[in-house]
Amino acid sequence: MPLSILISGAGIAGTALAFRLSKLGHRATVVERFPHLHASGLQLDLRGDGIQILRQMDLEDVFRAHAVPEQGIQLVDSAGRQRAYFPARNHRSGPVSQAFTSEWGIMRGDLCRIVYQAAQDRVTYRYGTSIESFEQDSDEVVVHLSDGTTGSFHLLVGADGQASQTREMMLRGTGHAEPFHSLDGYTAYFTIPWTPFTIGSSR
Ligand SMILES: Cc1cc2nc3c(=O)[nH]c(=O)nc-3n(C[C@H](O)[C@H](O)[C@H](O)COP(=O)(O)OP(=O)(O)OC[C@H]3O[C@@H](n4cnc5c(N)ncnc54)[C@H](O)[C@@H]3O)c2cc1C
Repeated sequence: MPLSILISGAGIAGTALAFRLSKLGHRATVVERFPHLHASGLQLDLRGDGIQILRQMDLEDVFRAHAVPEQGIQLVDSAGRQRAYFPARNHRSGPVSQAFTSEWGIMRGDLCRIVYQAAQDRVTYRYGTSIESFEQDSDEVVVHLSDGTTGSFHLLVGADGQASQTREMMLRGTGHAEPFHSLDGYTAYFTIPWTPFTIGSSR
């Protein structure tokens, strides 16, 4: 029997789960609080299970077409001389299991778009919407959404990131502690214009 499943969050996890569920014939609806696909962010690497799942999804070719042409990390001195070099891990790296970077690097937005586009015609996406509350009984979960609508589903999945509101709502009143604790530490990233060059050459 096809199940009706609500996923909160159209990030990598939410779009990938919607892909798999819809392929199995289930009805997947994704609510995303952002007004459109939140396809931004910097570079991330797939490792281990992520690579296997990408292959199972038959998305390796399209991934490689968008992958970052990663060579590794080079530390240089003020004269541009190489002081350290950590090559990117690739299929020729042999048993080396980890490195700072790998051939499986991609911009987060590109990966999000690739997974989304692979199943967009089979999945219902509702943007600018999030879950306000829900009630679970033995058969279904009734979900109240921020756009004022209510729906019933067989399953509700929280894929709304590490500070998931869905998880927070599920744990509320259960006596289980919320596992996400802010340490009040913040990191800022920025990008700079990039000129392609070959590692080892001086600029
Ligand atoms: C904008 C953005 C940029 C990122 N950039 C990087 C990066 O450069 N490098 C890196 O390694 N990791 C980055 N991350 C984190 C990385 O994407 C995740 O750690 C990893 O991909 C796990 O994906 P996820 O789908 O579980 O969560 P996420 O990728 O965090 O996606 C969660 C999704 O849920 C949505 N959402 C959040 N709260 C709600 C809510 N209450 N209701 C509905 N939807 C909600 C978010 O808008 C987002 O689309 C970024 C995440 C985001 C959201």
